[in-house]
Amino acid sequence: MKHHLFAFSALALLGLTSPLLAQSNSLSEAIATDYDNSLEALFIDFHKNPELSYKETRTASIIAREWRAAGWTVTEKVGGTGVVAVMKNGEGPTVMLRADMDGLPLLEDTDLDYKSTAKQIGLDGKEKNVMHACGHDVHVTSLIGTARQLAGSKGKWRGTVVLIGQPAEETFGGAKAMLDDGLYSRFPKPDYALGFHVISGIPAGSLSLTPGINTSSTDSVDIIIHGVGTHGAFPHAGKDPIVMGSQIVMALQTLVSREIAPLNPAVVSVGSFQSGFKHNIIPNKAVLQLTVRSDDAETRKKLLDGIKRISKNIARASGMPEDKLPEVNVAAESTPAGYSDLALTQRLNNVFTKQFGKEAILSIPRTGMGGEDFAYFVAPNSDVPGLYFAIGGTSQADLDRAQSGGPPIPAHHSPFFKVTPRESIMMGTEAMTSATWELLQPPSD
Ligand SMILES: [Zn+2]
Ligand SMILES: [Zn+2]
Repeated sequence: MKHHLFAFSALALLGLTSPLLAQSNSLSEAIATDYDNSLEALFIDFHKNPELSYKETRTASIIAREWRAAGWTVTEKVGGTGVVAVMKNGEGPTVMLRADMDGLPLLEDTDLDYKSTAKQIGLDGKEKNVMHACGHDVHVTSLIGTARQLAGSKGKWRGTVVLIGQPAEETFGGAKAMLDDGLYSRFPKPDYALGFHVISGIPAGSLSLTPGINTSSTDSVDIIIHGVGTHGAFPHAGKDPIVMGSQIVMALQTLVSREIAPLNPAVVSVGSFQSGFKHNIIPNKAVLQLTVRSDDAETRKKLLDGIKRISKNIARASGMPEDKLPEVNVAAESTPAGYSDLALTQRLNNVFTKQFGKEAILSIPRTGMGGEDFAYFVAPNSDVPGLYFAIGGTSQADLDRAQSGGPPIPAHHSPFFKVTPRESIMMGTEAMTSATWELLQPPSD
């Protein structure tokens, strides 16, 4: 944004304004006006009132209200709390734009004057603090801004746009729930699907596109290890599930390092190991919770099969009978790897370069194996070509300070997470609007 406005004014000084630059500048200005008049207040409201996965009823009703007010045909409760808006504007392809709506069970610890103090009863019946610690409040606010821009620019596009407010991205259930509830049959099926994430590690005013695989398959695995409880001073009278669990954790480290080809990315992380009551009791049970990541179905299967094999055989080696071997449960809520279509990425890379200037377009390589259930909406998991891209969320000055030993940039899912809402929301809105104009260009006559 900053780069683009600079380019525009420099050219204007030289008397060299092109129609394209003039046009994109008017889009930026319209979005800036809408942000100051309305979107900022909506963002602050979403930020102060985050909701847990599948509990996004308030968020969904505000999105539905705003999309209706902008002239869209809105259906609520698709796949739980999901919202779908459709606008038909003559013959042409269909584009789907997606925002995820959920917050996380965290107590916010930022210095923001609009920080969340919200609590909510989760699906497990327990009350939790809730925080927008991943930036989904930026996504929903942007898609309200985009709904308004598209409704107000019907001369610039021809076809159908579908907007979705998706529940439960953080638990990897919402995208599939919307598809299972008829997203691609009850509503116009898209020819293209677009989604984005604001990222705190990317400078505000920049946007990053990665063609090909950009998110990993993600599975949550629970391992329930059965033992035989006894007194800690008489260990020979029992079977210690903590020792078995420790051996399993160590043996799992060899899955990636010894069984998966070195150039094939994979992760097995044990995030939770729970067992026991007090110092001198050997308990009868231990529970491990794992996250498992890969980039293809074959590796995914190898990892999941390997986790079962290692867990059961370590219990066997410890002398547990066949009917008391560990239970290895793979959660139903998982996601496959996500893929951005090569031709679509190239096409929109060109559009964003014109819109924001080439300095604003980055292609930041992956440094880890994050997952995103947007993957379900797009090829190869459906037959819809998709693009998932990233938008910067932290000022360059803060990133520079962190680089030179200053305060670190708060990570996503941390209680300190925050982004630059104005620049991020404006860029998200401008990118989604300009991408839709490109994909739904009216005939030139
Ligand atoms: Zn997240
Ligand atoms: Zn997120």
